Amino acid sequence: MTLVVDAGGTHLRAEIHSKNGLQEKLNEKSSTVGLASWMETIIKDHSDIKTICISYAGQVKDGVIISAPNIKVDVHEIKEYFKDKYEISLFIENDLNCAVIAESTYLKEEDVCAIYIGTGLGLGVVSSGNLITGFSGVATEIGHIAYKEAPFVCGCGKSNCIELFASGSALDRWKKHKKIDPKLNLQDLKDTPEFSEIYKEFELALLYSVSTAITLFNPKVVVLGGGIIESNPQLESIIASKIEEFAMPVALRGVKIIKTKLNNAPIIGALMLKDLR
Ligand SMILES: [Zn+2]
Repeated sequence: MTLVVDAGGTHLRAEIHSKNGLQEKLNEKSSTVGLASWMETIIKDHSDIKTICISYAGQVKDGVIISAPNIKVDVHEIKEYFKDKYEISLFIENDLNCAVIAESTYLKEEDVCAIYIGTGLGLGVVSSGNLITGFSGVATEIGHIAYKEAPFVCGCGKSNCIELFASGSALDRWKKHKKIDPKLNLQDLKDTPEFSEIYKEFELALLYSVSTAITLFNPKVVVLGGGIIESNPQLESIIASKIEEFAMPVALRGVKIIKTKLNNAPIIGALMLKDLR
């Protein structure tokens, strides 16, 4: 049996798979329990789990969790921990890296950028068929490029990250900062003249992010996903119609910008990790 975990900034979601497919789904809030101790409680009930695959909303390298702005980290050397204590093989990769592995496999394309706007703003890149990970495993962290000063600090420690303008958590923080009803969604903000500035800042930061990915990585396909895209599908056409003003023209030639067609690309990609190495 394989335990597949989507460790996100808001939820920990797990699926137990056997040779016959999905057997069981489990859910927990990321803020209430550490990832390792939550998985240990699952393993105790399912002693036949021999492999764990994790899509992780943070930075990881060679089975070690380096940092996680939004998740409680109880064990950093997580691969070694589960090997030594339970003899379980564990594979862990950044969530956007998992997503882009799944997207490029599904699309049968070798040059893909996956941009997910959920709690954070993430990017995963497959270029000429290879996943871009960088020297210490933190490449393509587009949400944390310097953009402009915000009145609050990012989970990474800086206060000028682009994610502080274009992400679900950014919208929550701006609403709190401006003392706006937290229930107002992105469309409400756009439609209310006194709050539309927050929407405009969101859209602009998103266009900068997507165009930066296109200009730097020259993908054939840009796949958009994540909770904010799911609940605001109109963002796909807004990006497509305005991206020319932002991306380098020659890098934009022939690029397709689409919404994900996969139900949970990070989970699908995580499950593929054990076959990749
Ligand atoms: Zn940051």
